[in-house]
Amino acid sequence: MTEIADITIHPKKLVLFDIDGTLLHCGSSARESMAQAISEEVGSLVELLVEDVAGSTDLAIMQQALSRHGVLDGDIGGVLARVTKRYLEIMKVAYPARDDQYLYPGIRELLEKLNGEPGIRLGLLTGNLIDSARVKLANYGIWEYFRVGAFGSDATDRNELPGVAWKKAAQELGEQYTPEQTVLIGDTPRDALCARANGIRGIIICRRPEWREQVQEHFPAMILDSSVDYEAIWQMIIG
Ligand SMILES: [Mg+2]
Repeated sequence: MTEIADITIHPKKLVLFDIDGTLLHCGSSARESMAQAISEEVGSLVELLVEDVAGSTDLAIMQQALSRHGVLDGDIGGVLARVTKRYLEIMKVAYPARDDQYLYPGIRELLEKLNGEPGIRLGLLTGNLIDSARVKLANYGIWEYFRVGAFGSDATDRNELPGVAWKKAAQELGEQYTPEQTVLIGDTPRDALCARANGIRGIIICRRPEWREQVQEHFPAMILDSSVDYEAIWQMIIG
């Protein structure tokens, strides 16, 4: 008789969500908080546009803005640490106080439905730092859904983040996932590229029509223009 011991049934799929533009409309307070922190550091007014931040990591955005304002070398690590700390201080207060941010339609329903699926593990793949991600998601009570995350503090290159998520899933949850068992849900051409570069199925909720062509260049498994039809997204993940 063969004895089978220690069988661990792992969830079949890891679903990694981007945050800004995918789960929620971030409004302007996070961007303004970061611009303020950078302005304080460089001593002049720094503005950040949507184009400067979309799909990029928090650290990369800060680094680019700092170098635009002449902070190129020297103790860049120390400068970044200082700006990051200040950014988080400002946004923790500013974010919940503003009302131009919202969860996109269908997202809460999608997360609830996925969370009830035994074969699904939810995670984050975002350029946000872990603390800014927590502030944004906790604002809607959805932080707890995500058991694993790759953040902007883990790598400045987004394409490296899936590898970080897999490593953390193995270390923190004892679960191994292959690219075939992973789905990435994002909103920008950079998300589509990240999925493709890592051999992951990408679902792109392309909320800006002007990005659609660039998104298509990376052949994601699915492109939608909103998350209203969350059942279709759910089907794509499950299928
Ligand atoms: Mg995004």
